[in-house]
Amino acid sequence: MRLVLLGPPNSGKGTQAAQLAEHLGIPAISTGDMLREAVAEGSELGRRVDSIMQSGRLVDDETMAAVVRERLAKVDAAKGFLLDGYPRTLPQVETLEGLLADADRELDAAVQIVVPKEILIERALARGRKDDSAEVMEERLKVYGELTAPLVGYYGGRSLLRTVDGDRSIDQVFASILEAIGR
Ligand code: ADP
Repeated sequence: MRLVLLGPPNSGKGTQAAQLAEHLGIPAISTGDMLREAVAEGSELGRRVDSIMQSGRLVDDETMAAVVRERLAKVDAAKGFLLDGYPRTLPQVETLEGLLADADRELDAAVQIVVPKEILIERALARGRKDDSAEVMEERLKVYGELTAPLVGYYGGRSLLRTVDGDRSIDQVFASILEAIGR
């Protein structure tokens, strides 16, 4: 299975991605985690993206294309994958389409997790990651609305979109996702 998880910051994508990956036997690929690891390692990439991430803005599409191309080329992604946090812009959608087409593969579904904004902000303040302050969270939500939300229309138009209500328990959301993807 090749899946994309869509949802605003703090919608629970990461939690669901980990559980789904385990259940489906495919790797969960979180670009946010990959970038945070790069920052922690102090690599060239990490030094370049650190302040961008802390401000709540997006890392540029070319940088992300290189990160994702390299990750999807690893052997474990041959049997399928679940992308968490990519694509986040329409150009990133095109990059992914290109990578899949090159490998003669297609996406099976894009799962959108919907959560009301007040809940997202509440969760961010409870989580307390570096980029979870009220101010940065506002910026991340704005970026999501402007750059990422259009992907919902795109995947909807290709009949790949599955929408689930994320304002419920982790187990309930997980069950709905499995149902939505027919597992
Ligand atoms: P969350 O899961 O809370 O939405 P992530 O952990 O996915 O957040 O991402 C954290 C930050 O990493 C983003 O705000 C952005 O700066 C950067 N980032 C992650 N994935 C991408 C991407 N596909 N394109 C651009 N920037 C990204």
